[in-house]
Amino acid sequence: ALSVGIVGLPNVGKSTLFNALTKAQNAQAANYPFCTIEPNVAIAPVPDPRLDALAVLAKPQQVLPATVRFTDIAGLVAGASKGEGLGNKFLAHIRETEVIIHVARAFEDPDVVHVSGTVDPARDIDVIDTELILADAQILENRLDRMIKQTKGSKDRDLLDKVEAGKRLLDHLMAGKPAISVEGADTPGMIALVEEIRPLSAKRVIYCANVAEGDIGKDNPLVDKVRAVAESRGAEMVVVCARMEEDLAGLSDEDRQEFLSSYGLTESGLDRVVRLAYQTLGLISFFTVGPKEVRAWTITTGTKAPAAASEIHSDIERGFIRAEVIAFNDYTKHQTEAKCRAAGVLRQEGKEYVMADADVVHFLFNV
Ligand code: GDP
Repeated sequence: ALSVGIVGLPNVGKSTLFNALTKAQNAQAANYPFCTIEPNVAIAPVPDPRLDALAVLAKPQQVLPATVRFTDIAGLVAGASKGEGLGNKFLAHIRETEVIIHVARAFEDPDVVHVSGTVDPARDIDVIDTELILADAQILENRLDRMIKQTKGSKDRDLLDKVEAGKRLLDHLMAGKPAISVEGADTPGMIALVEEIRPLSAKRVIYCANVAEGDIGKDNPLVDKVRAVAESRGAEMVVVCARMEEDLAGLSDEDRQEFLSSYGLTESGLDRVVRLAYQTLGLISFFTVGPKEVRAWTITTGTKAPAAASEIHSDIERGFIRAEVIAFNDYTKHQTEAKCRAAGVLRQEGKEYVMADADVVHFLFNV
């Protein structure tokens, strides 16, 4: 599953948001008996109306949405890169994630202490970002030292390219800028270097402004600050009210819709977060439909049929013969696989077929 890390200073609402995700997970728990859950991990279902539509048609015993794995990375404070707080352990957690949700406090509440005394999400974001940048700079400095020693008398072009990229990246980090914005990111040296050291500040970030219950659906100056930061980084942002998300997550589907529309919303903040994380990474879903289960699977845009099949089982990729593919709109129009076949909209696709979003697929393979 796509792995997302939740970061932010203490007392900004991370745990509250994470509790909402855990509730969403527990509502689905019966579907995921194979997941052993660590306390700081929540496996949240990806809401998808197309999956719901297929389930209505196929009436399977089980409906399995795609999932996103959220890790609550609490404990990041100023000085984490120097080992303050639980510093390095948390930085290691971040390294394992593909996207970072950066939660910033955009609510005033005299009862909730702020670690710096005042509420300023732009400053808060900067504190965390700086720690990530410093941690990257430290690792890179060590690595660069060793690489430079290796280059003595060496004519290894790849190594020399990497050293050149390393110096450039170090200057960039030392100027307080995240690795994601380094120039010449697509040069071979930089690509190799980034693959090797996997900088924390090279990860995609979604900024999340946590607002008070009274501010849902409205803008406030604190939200504007978060938006300005996100824009300056070319990143996405969402506005959520963590407390409301926690209430929402415990409701039935019907009650949720009612609750949301009372605020003039169509979608919960968590749903938006999940959707954005998907988009940010260029992920799409394909579906398998049968009487036992209707299921969504996650792949990257551009994935070919055999690699998509490997999401289900590596044996299917190994013995891949072909894929029988029905576009989602064709499936819902004709309503069953048999009728799709009769109507000539079930296509036979080979190894080179590039999967489209929402394909309904049946893989044929040799065992
Ligand atoms: P964390 O340290 O970032 O995990 O923060 P918590 O989730 O523990 O939240 C810290 C405090 O802020 C708790 O008392 C929460 O109830 C409160 N809090 C979180 N979200 C909101 C919110 O949207 N509105 C208000 N008023 N308080 C919130």
